[in-house]
Amino acid sequence: MKKVVVIGAGLGGLSASAYLAAAGYDVTVYEASSTYGGKAGNIASEGFRFDTGPSLLTMPFVLEHLFAAAGRNISDYIKIKPLDVLCKYFYPDGTEVTAYNDLPRFIDEISEKTGEPRRNFEKYFAYSKKIYDLTHELFLFKSFREAGTFFNAKSLKTLLNIFRIDPFRTMHKANAAFFGNKKVVQMFDRYATYNGSDPYKAPATLNIIQHVEYALGGYTADGGIRGIAEGLYKLCRELGVKFEFGKRTEKILLESRQVKGIIADGKPVKSDIVVTNADVFSSYNKLLDGVHTRGRKRYSQLEPSSSALVFYWGVKGNNEKLEGHNILFTKDYSAEFNSLFEKREIYADPTVYIYISSKFNKSDAPEGHENWFVMINAPHTGGRTSVPDLCRIRENIIGKIEETTGIKIGENILTEHVLTPSDIENKTGSTFGSLYGISSNDRYAAFLRQDNKCREIEGLYFCGGSAHPGGGIPLVILSGKIASELIKKYEAA
Ligand SMILES: Cc1cc2nc3c(=O)[nH]c(=O)nc-3n(C[C@H](O)[C@H](O)[C@H](O)COP(=O)(O)OP(=O)(O)OC[C@H]3O[C@@H](n4cnc5c(N)ncnc54)[C@H](O)[C@@H]3O)c2cc1C
Repeated sequence: MKKVVVIGAGLGGLSASAYLAAAGYDVTVYEASSTYGGKAGNIASEGFRFDTGPSLLTMPFVLEHLFAAAGRNISDYIKIKPLDVLCKYFYPDGTEVTAYNDLPRFIDEISEKTGEPRRNFEKYFAYSKKIYDLTHELFLFKSFREAGTFFNAKSLKTLLNIFRIDPFRTMHKANAAFFGNKKVVQMFDRYATYNGSDPYKAPATLNIIQHVEYALGGYTADGGIRGIAEGLYKLCRELGVKFEFGKRTEKILLESRQVKGIIADGKPVKSDIVVTNADVFSSYNKLLDGVHTRGRKRYSQLEPSSSALVFYWGVKGNNEKLEGHNILFTKDYSAEFNSLFEKREIYADPTVYIYISSKFNKSDAPEGHENWFVMINAPHTGGRTSVPDLCRIRENIIGKIEETTGIKIGENILTEHVLTPSDIENKTGSTFGSLYGISSNDRYAAFLRQDNKCREIEGLYFCGGSAHPGGGIPLVILSGKIASELIKKYEAA
């Protein structure tokens, strides 16, 4: 039986481990921290529970496939629940729009609140669906570097329809061409942040995300997003995956460019195959230090995705005005993105995201209380270790919440934890604290992302948000699936 070492127990690492163990490989995960899940972590404090990172699940069928591949029924491990409301949007002029998890109802709502004709939304969602139909198999479900990915009828159709997947204009340009109302454009531009990018630079192909969220739906799970990590971990354990927590991998061992194992916690560990769920940049620069690779050179030239600053507040009271997911928009979105990606500073009037999982998981907060996850976009650290003016930013956010929603939150915060971009880097190994690996601000980014098989070192594979097909829960689960398929093809168990 071939021995596989997986470096990192993020969602991508758990996915690869489960797929491989189900296929008969002997899998051991070496995780630097004391628990599994990586960015999908958990804080439990004074009766409040918080998801630390991801807060919204899309494409749950990707998870269902993983459990089915292991001969299990997902509902025995993770109780996935559709949301009633995807998000409530608050604009600086007082407009409030509820994005129902029911497309016709959402279109009624937004068209009534903004005056934008219904038919424009119908055309827009048909366009977004077209991008999904043409691209998802080619861009999300397979390795780019395998000849079979391109030489088949479906891929050929995508390539022949290249203009219909809209790669030559930006997301913002495309959105502004569909809608006259600036609030609608701002709402749909926001989806660039789902992979840490700038809608004024990222290709309009990313407008695929709106189909994924509005037509395929948004979900949560019992126990919040952490419940997904727990279900995956339980599955891995049942499949015989071994976990070594608190063991940081320091080096990937090679002999004539063939993987021989790793050094973890100062000790050598032999293996036939290594799957790294650590950030691609740090895999090349730290774990393969001294090994010349083209991948390392290429990755050092790519722009990391944006990061985030998150406050986790245990809050007194129930706020009926808010839903589980809420966005309080900035007055000037282009200035916010310019600040994030050009000046690399947190913007003075940032868009604020508030996620309150206790709205649907009552046990996440004591009776009469709520658990607020308050996040703003932040630039990647670029090597900085602290956020300048953190207290001022916090006060600014509190002021914005009060001004936009009328909720006086400052006096009701009972407990507080903070996650800065450098905390994200230190806790999960993401280069510069990026949330989603590399940004998609370049139209070729999808092609530049690390393939799941290293073509320069035998036996080395990649999964996770900085590898193909990208960041976000469903994509990192797919990265583990694609890596496992390549391993089955090239390294029979
Ligand atoms: C604040 C925030 C909000 C987000 N919101 C969303 C959202 O709403 N929806 C969504 O889909 N996605 C969201 N994301 C992104 C999503 O969390 C990530 O894309 C995904 O969880 C990353 O998974 P991963 O497999 O890349 O592993 P990671 O979570 O990055 O974990 C990597 C693991 O590898 C370990 N590791 C690294 N180096 C080593 C080493 N040398 N030795 C041993 N172990 C090592 C780390 O300790 C870590 O446990 C968010 C992320 C953050 C931080």
